[in-house]
Amino acid sequence: MSELSVEGREAEAAGECVVMKFGGTSVQDAAAIRRVCQLTRRALPERRVLVVSALAKVTDQLMNAGWAAAEGRLDAARASLQLLRERHEAVAGGLVGGDEHRRLCNEFAREFDALAVVLSRIASEKAFTPHAQDQLLGVGESLSSKLVHAALQSAGMEAVLVDSRDCIVTDAAHTRATPLWDETNERLRAVLVPLLKSGQTPVMGGFVGATRDGIATTLGRGGSDFSASIVGAGLHAKRIEIWTDVDGIMTTDPALCPDASRVARMSFDEAADLAYFGAKVLHPATLVPAMRGNIPVWVLNSRNPNCAGTEIVARCESDGRVKAVTSKRGVAIVDIEPVRWFAPELLREVFDVFERHQHSLDLLSASRGSLALLVSSVTALPAIAEELKGLANVRWESHKALVCLVGEQIRRRPEIASQAFRAIADIDVRMICQGASERNISFLVDESRAVEAVQRLHRSFFSAPAPEPAMEASSSQAMCQAEGVWQ
Ligand code: ADP
Ligand code: ASP
Ligand code: MG
Repeated sequence: MSELSVEGREAEAAGECVVMKFGGTSVQDAAAIRRVCQLTRRALPERRVLVVSALAKVTDQLMNAGWAAAEGRLDAARASLQLLRERHEAVAGGLVGGDEHRRLCNEFAREFDALAVVLSRIASEKAFTPHAQDQLLGVGESLSSKLVHAALQSAGMEAVLVDSRDCIVTDAAHTRATPLWDETNERLRAVLVPLLKSGQTPVMGGFVGATRDGIATTLGRGGSDFSASIVGAGLHAKRIEIWTDVDGIMTTDPALCPDASRVARMSFDEAADLAYFGAKVLHPATLVPAMRGNIPVWVLNSRNPNCAGTEIVARCESDGRVKAVTSKRGVAIVDIEPVRWFAPELLREVFDVFERHQHSLDLLSASRGSLALLVSSVTALPAIAEELKGLANVRWESHKALVCLVGEQIRRRPEIASQAFRAIADIDVRMICQGASERNISFLVDESRAVEAVQRLHRSFFSAPAPEPAMEASSSQAMCQAEGVWQ
């Protein structure tokens, strides 16, 4: 690790802190928030910073209210705000009483009045812009952090509410903002270090930030994990804990395969690949700051805190086995065929056009004759095709899913790819991607077959040996070098 700056040393001295992030289900009601208080107390005497998500489903409900307002259904939007308000007041009532309850309800009233103004503006403009979306959605985290703060205080802990918009400085890419690292680290240290030194527990909303001018932004759906990692890296924390509703990172999504089992340890790279290829348990950018600061990340179950969870560290022993299976839905494959011949300039032009349209690429496969790209959204593709007219013909197919096997060095063992082929032999595979790294092998299939493909691969790699179907791999059409491209 590089030598620490004065600020870094100060953060570290005040640090030795642990960042604890609690997801939506871990703060969904008064009982869940009481568990958060117990877990926070249990962590004593370590210094802690809490990062919390909005109460479960609140972000989706705020999003729906925004769309309803934009579509002219302002009454429906207001009605759902009213329900949200009542839910937060009821949760507050389950945590604190008397004056403290009244104080919290007054604070909520101010937040909901401001939300009503945003909804009216969306309705009058008939547009739910990314800027309005950030103003609306970030309120979920503001409300939940107030509830958790009040609960900790009433449980006798010295908690202090910190507005994340004062600490996490981002660019202005609304709905998918990126932190401006130096400013963010500086502000995190300036605000949090004195609080930690004086023995207080800061409570912050995840997911939100603000531009240098103080305009609210968000880090993308599921972004509270990323917030926790940003805070952890800024403070040189000793550990980042992601408290969620499952026992850790599992061999696959337990919602798809109930027999999925916990992975005790994995590398940063393995976890980052899993998150990038669709495992919702971690936001895809979470591991980036943690890796940079070499800070271990733990994924833990707030409903089953005695379970050891998953430890994610820089390096972990590997025997070349598959650690987990995941899938990313909503993928489209874009074929780019040069009008004349394939030249390196075309590659540059394609990247430039996608960049101009702020369109991120998931995977790229190049061959002598053409280029295949995988993307997660098709909205800008007609305009991109138009810009490339004369240079290349652009066609795309939507409703695909990328099913991915992850594990250090799995590509060194060719039998893994053949076992995977056998498991999904009768599923049409449009493209096979062996990672540029040695860590992942992925298959592009129709979205409608994705769940089945995951279940079969999981059974094949993690359950008792299944009978081998006597078939060859079906229509694998391309073998490619995969290259993850960060947004
Ligand atoms: P939180 O609200 O705590 O952020 P999320 O719903 O975002 O929680 O993420 C947890 C969910 O991720 C789990 O309930 C599970 O269904 C899903 N998931 C997907 N893939 C995995 C995996 N490999 N291991 C564990 N959970 C996974
Ligand atoms: N509440 C936000 C969301 O649902 C962020 C998060 O929970 O991580 O996307
Ligand atoms: Mg999440």
